[in-house]
This record gives sequence, C-alpha cells and structure tokens, in this order.
Amino acid sequence: MPVFALLLILLSGYCAAASGSGPEPQSDLIGALDLSEYIDYLEDADNTLSLEEVVTIHSSNWKLNQSTTFTQGYSASTWWLKLTLNNSDSAAQDRLLEIAYPGLDTVNVFIKHSHGLETFRLGDALPFDQRPIKSHTFIVPLQLDGNSATDIYLQIRSKSAIQVPLTLWQPAAYLKHDRGETLMQGFYYGVMIVMGIYNLFVYLAVREKNFLYYVCFVFSIPLFIASVKGFSFEYLWPNHPNWNDQAIIWSLCFTIMFGALFTESFLKLEKLGNWAVVLFRVLLVMITAILLASIVLPYRDVITLLIPLTTFCCFLGLMFGLMMWNKGGLSARYYTVGWAAFLTGGITLGLNKLNLIPTNALTENTLQVGSSFEVVLLSFALAESINEDRRLRSQAQQNALETERNVRQAKEQALHLQQQVATELEARVRERTQELEVLNQQLAEISDTDQLTGLKNRRYLNRVLDEELIRCSRYRNPLSIILLDVDHFKQFNDNYGHLVGDDCLKSVGSTLKESIRNGVDCATRYGGEEFCIMLPETDVKGALEVAERIRTNIENMAFLVKGETVPVTVSLGISALLPNEQLKMDKLVKRADEALYAAKAAGRNRTMIARANQSGSDPLNTVVQHKKLN
Ligand code: GH3
Ligand code: MG
Ligand code: MG
Repeated sequence: MPVFALLLILLSGYCAAASGSGPEPQSDLIGALDLSEYIDYLEDADNTLSLEEVVTIHSSNWKLNQSTTFTQGYSASTWWLKLTLNNSDSAAQDRLLEIAYPGLDTVNVFIKHSHGLETFRLGDALPFDQRPIKSHTFIVPLQLDGNSATDIYLQIRSKSAIQVPLTLWQPAAYLKHDRGETLMQGFYYGVMIVMGIYNLFVYLAVREKNFLYYVCFVFSIPLFIASVKGFSFEYLWPNHPNWNDQAIIWSLCFTIMFGALFTESFLKLEKLGNWAVVLFRVLLVMITAILLASIVLPYRDVITLLIPLTTFCCFLGLMFGLMMWNKGGLSARYYTVGWAAFLTGGITLGLNKLNLIPTNALTENTLQVGSSFEVVLLSFALAESINEDRRLRSQAQQNALETERNVRQAKEQALHLQQQVATELEARVRERTQELEVLNQQLAEISDTDQLTGLKNRRYLNRVLDEELIRCSRYRNPLSIILLDVDHFKQFNDNYGHLVGDDCLKSVGSTLKESIRNGVDCATRYGGEEFCIMLPETDVKGALEVAERIRTNIENMAFLVKGETVPVTVSLGISALLPNEQLKMDKLVKRADEALYAAKAAGRNRTMIARANQSGSDPLNTVVQHKKLN
C-alpha cells in the first residue's frame, strides 16, 4: 500500500517563508487537513479582476492568512485565495476540497493542473444540483497528479459574512466524517421536530397559547440553523437559490418573534410591570419592520441589524427569566437555564459572524446544542407551569370552599343566635305576661276589695250580683240578699272616735265572714257602716236564718273599748228573688233597703223581710214583715 504523502506547499512567496519553519504536512494527515494556514489572499475591492490578472499579480501583493479560518466579516469585495498542493508521491491522489461555509454566494474554484485548468462554479447563488458533489457544504473533487504541484485559486464573493474554512479530505475520511455529521444533524433535527410535533398536539389538546408560541419557536430555530448550515437549501428549496439568504433572515425573525411572544406570555411579564410588556411590543414591531424591510434592503444591511438585536433579545429573555425566578416559581427557573443555554449558542454564533471569535467545531455547533437544551428545558418549564397553575387553581378552590364553609357556619350561628334570642324573648314575654296577669289579678283583687274590712266592695257586688241574678232567673233558682246597717253608728263615732269606729267596722266584717257559708255566700261592704250579703241558692227562709245568725253574732261579739264591752247591734233587711221573677239588681237592693229601713223604724237590732207584691204591682211598697227573735 503506497504511503500516503501529501505535501502542501504554498505558492512561491509563501513557500520560501514556510520551507524552514512550516508544518510538515505528512504529520497532519489523519484524513483531514485544515488548509487555513497555507492560504494567501488578495482583496479585489472593485470586483474587476479576472483569473488571468490574478495569476500574474506579484507574490508581494498577496497576504498570508494569519487566523485559524480565513474570515473577513461582511464585505462587498471579491476575495481571491490561493494555495499550492504538492503531491510528492509518484501516483496521482484523489482528494476532496471542502469549503465548509454554505452561506457564500459565489465560490469559483480554479485548479491549475500540470495538464491544464479545471474550473468549478459553486455558491448558494446557484441551484443546488449544479454542485459537483451534492453536499450542504461546498465540495470540489481534486485529482493531484503524481510528483507535481497543483495551484488552486478561489474567487469568493458574498452578501453573507466572508468565511472560508478550507479542509482537504481523504475521500474515505470525508465519507466517515459526513456519516457522523449526518447522524448528529439527524439527531438534532429529530429532537426538534419531535418536540415541535409533540407540543403541537399538546396545544391542540389544551389550547393554551403558550404551547402554540413554543411550537412556532421550536420550528423556527432548526429552520434558521438549517438555513445557515445549508441543509434547507439542500433539502427544502434546492432550486431557489434566491430564497436562501431571505430564509435565514425570515427564520431568524420568526425565532425572535415567537421567542418574545412565548417569553411574554409564559413568564407573565405584566407581573413585572407595563414597561416590560411595552418593551417586548416595541421589539416585536422592530422585528416585523426588519422582516418587511428585508424584501427591499440588501441582505448584508438586514443581517447587520438583526445580529445585535437578536443578542439583545436573548439577554432580555435571560434577564426577565432571572427576575421572574427571583419572584419564585420553578417554571421560571427552567426557563432561565434553558434560555442561558440558547443564549450561549446565540452569542457564540453572533460573535463568530461578526468575526470576533474564530470558526471551529464548537462555535459552529453551540447553537444547536444550546437550542436543543433550551427546547427540552422549556418543555419542562411548560409542564411545570401547568403544575403551578393546577396548584394555584386547587388552592383557590380550597379557599373558596373554606369561605363557603365559613359563611355557612356564620349563617348557622346567626340563626342559632336568632333562635336563642327569640326563645329568650318569648320566655321573658311569657314571664312578664304572667307577672302582669298576677299584677292584674292583684289589682282586680285590690279594686274589688274594701281596704278597711278586707271584704269585697260594692263594685264587686254590683258585678257578681248581676251575673248571679241572670243565672238564677234562667235556672229558676232562689237568691236572697241581706242589707245590714250598724245601729247608731254616728253616735258610736262620736262617743269613741273615728278610729275605734273603724275597728268596730272591722269586727263587724269579721263576724259577717264567720257567719256565712264560705265560698258560696258573699259578704260585701256596701258603703259606710252598711253591708250587703249575697246568698245564692237561698230562699227567704234560709236568708232569715243567716240574717238572724249574723245579728245575734254581732250582738254577742263583745266589742271592747278600753277594756269595756261596748254593745254593737245591727239592723237587717232581706230581699229574695221570687220564683219566675225577672228582677234587676237595683230593684232587689232597693227592696232590701226598704226592709232595712223598716227594721230601723221598728226599733233597730232586728231583721225585716221585704215581700214582693204577688199581684205584680210595685213590690217595693208592699208588706214588710217584722221579725225579731227573742
Ligand atoms: P241609724 O241607727 O239610724 O243608722 O243611725 P246612725 O247614726 O248609724 O245613722 P247615720 O247614717 O246618720 O250615721 C252613720 C254614721 O256612720 C255617719 C258616719 O260618721 C259613720 N261612718 C260611716 N262610715 C264610717 C267609717 O268608715 N268609719 C267610721 N268610724 N265611721 C263611719
Ligand atoms: Mg247608715
Ligand atoms: Mg247606721
């Protein structure tokens, strides 16, 4: 097997400089060789030079590339690169030359073999299928003749950043590398697409706008990266080179827009104050304006505006994430960490494109690694935010239940209190009513009672006698009354004084009470020294018996004044209701009074009975029968 030996010799000017201290290419041949340090370059600011002219330019006008990758940032010039590959082996060698920056618009490769000139026209300004090898980067097949040097000239022009990562590959090594790269890219886009589709379904199920913004964001990022890396051109629009630059701008704008919308809605920025929301709205308007301007403005101007704006937005997202994290909430934490990952990728890419940091495998892929981290973490954040919402909802539900329970308890207590008050009030009213009834009874008692003797008074007699008369008439029962008057009482008062007279009247009252049927007959003080006794169910005969008993008892009661017995006598008049007689009370009393008057007239200390007129004439002027016992 021939020993692989490939000598890289820069063109004459550099050759002399490099021959002493330059690297031995053999030692670098591990399948791929970075050619950056062997590049000489020339700027054609007027875009007028042809290959023929360039070839003749003296080596002193060429500059040696000093950076790890030939990079010029955004430039309107045409850049010429040259290098020489020397095959010291006798056999011809097949190699691949890769220009691993797919954004370049025009890449013309001129290969000067010993047997003639070979030209390849590449760049994303040409349709994809014109590429000699179908790859997302630019690859040119090289056949290096044995024992000879091959000069290679590259003519580069682009609206995008000028970057020319130049690598020489062994075909087998490239195939291996490409397989690895394809696997990695497939994994990345696979992750992003799965996350996007999965969350799209979640959105369709829950209809939460956070998910929609997230899905749009998740689809925008890989579209942007695929456009930068040339995959979109290879797979999505291989025949539309004009759309290529535009796709980078649009996908980047969409990434920022949906990132901002997601951030605003997910972090609930209104909690930080109106200024945060207004700031995001202003950014959205700016992005929309840039998006529209990109239709007419040159790519270079638009992308120069977009890169710092993107960086600013990333920082803003991180800052808001941190502020919300500070306010508590696990979802803001996931968001911030995810955003930091994406930001790291974004900043690295931004700085690289602005030519501030070199291009290498790390700077080329951080955006992909960062964005996949972010997408996964944001998905966690979304899940956590649903959890948080659920917690808050259940807390609110619990609070509502508790409030309801408290209200119910308060109502029950109020009702209970009301009932208690009502019961107490009722009891108090009942008590008061009872007291009042007792008082009323007492009052009635008092108003019906004579203070001096303790007997019922005339008021009482008038009431009960009337009722008794009606009752006895209805049932044809007998009824009698006795009217009684103390004899010579004026004299008595005069002799012993009014107070002794009162005592005497009290004694008469007591004697009266003792002389009648308790509870049936009723003795009353009729006025002054006059008394009236009502005898229900009692005829004249019975009444006379009672009257005489009273008279005798009083006559015998031995009323003492200063140790001496003073005689007290009474005169009595009886009036009785006759059978079938309808009589008014005052007439009955008047008849008794007539009888009493007769008793007085007949000499006192006796009983007289009023006799009703049988013929129906005025009974009051009829016979008064005198009766005196002893
Ligand atoms: P007669 O036998 O005709 O009834 O003579 P009398 O003196 O009893 O008759 P009169 O009706 O003229 O006098 C009644 C006297 O009774 C007059 C009054 O001073 C006296 N009197 C009436 N009520 C009371 C009282 O409540 N207390 C006392 N101490 N005296 C009374
Ligand atoms: Mg009198
Ligand atoms: Mg008298």
